[in-house]
Amino acid sequence: MSRVFYDRDADLKHLDGKTVGIIGYGNQGRAQALNLRDSGVSVLVGGLEDTYLDMAREDGQEVSGIKETVQKSEIILMLIPDEVEPAVYAEHVRQNLREGTMLCFASGYNIHFQEIVPFEHVDVVLLAPRTLGLAVRETFTRGTGVPADVAVWRDHTGTAWPTLLALAKGIGCTRIGAFESSFREEVELDLFSKQALWPALFDCLLTGFEVRVERGYSPEAVALEFYASGEAADIFLEMATQGLFAQMRFHSLTSQYGVLSQYKGATGLGLRRRMEEVLAKIRDGSFAREWAQEAKAGYPTLKKLRQEAESHLLNATDQRIRKSLSWSLPKDG
Ligand code: NDP
Repeated sequence: MSRVFYDRDADLKHLDGKTVGIIGYGNQGRAQALNLRDSGVSVLVGGLEDTYLDMAREDGQEVSGIKETVQKSEIILMLIPDEVEPAVYAEHVRQNLREGTMLCFASGYNIHFQEIVPFEHVDVVLLAPRTLGLAVRETFTRGTGVPADVAVWRDHTGTAWPTLLALAKGIGCTRIGAFESSFREEVELDLFSKQALWPALFDCLLTGFEVRVERGYSPEAVALEFYASGEAADIFLEMATQGLFAQMRFHSLTSQYGVLSQYKGATGLGLRRRMEEVLAKIRDGSFAREWAQEAKAGYPTLKKLRQEAESHLLNATDQRIRKSLSWSLPKDG
């Protein structure tokens, strides 16, 4: 098993006297910037004017242009979408990096697929929280954190690891566990989930929806019975904290018997073959090439796929259910 780092393995003193420049103030940028500031770290948010800088100002963050942020910071967190990172890096970051600066990514994508090739005189590290930015912030304010993958791609200064772990501590990840990984492992596993596991789950959900609606069940009842009630989310949370099979003890015996007697081979050999093909395309770089072409053309396929998904009956059903369910408590209730 790879190394796992906790608070006791990390020391915030490695960030003393350093400024952490945050490029991007979206999902991850805002959460990580707020957590670091609450941990006593000096933070500077860098952005183009008329963009997310207003929100950062409202949060009381010190803000600056991207170029100035890079020039003034010893550590740069690249927290903008992976697709725009190479252009922003080439235009604003590259020529302003000083020797010994640390470049920190939240995804292994651009380094692994060589969309960004940093100079030899900078440290390059990965700090990838394994969940949404909202959770990064929300867990931190509750005194916990979220797990993260951490990796060092280049250690020019010889201090990349302690500095990276200090960042992970400031963001709250070492409260729960920062797992040693690599840029390659992080990106390949992440792409595999998005291209093989979640699609298989979507296929199961949609097929299960269609089969039952075709047999006369109401679309709302079908959606509610599975994920719209929040039950699936509760089960996934128990999987994370208890384990896939261990959480089964919270289910009825009928449910346990149903799942355990039916899951083997439930999706057939085709699924295994398909997953192997997807992984091969990720590993040999064909997916990265396909995605770069799609981006260059203005995302025509993605737009078409979104339209198709939006026109599915389940989408309209979801919207009707949202109106019937009261997920948030009344303000003064
Ligand atoms: P977001 O989509 O939330 O975008 C972040 C910011 O990027 C926004 O503030 C946006 O500004 C800014 N931005 C967009 N385009 C440009 C540009 N051309 N120039 C300058 N700024 C720009 O990013 P995420 O937080 O989702 O992702 C950041 C990184 O974190 C990625 O590497 C991602 O893979 C990784 N990651 C994301 C997770 C998540 O939960 N989403 C989970 C784990 C890792 P504006 O508001 O003005 O458009």
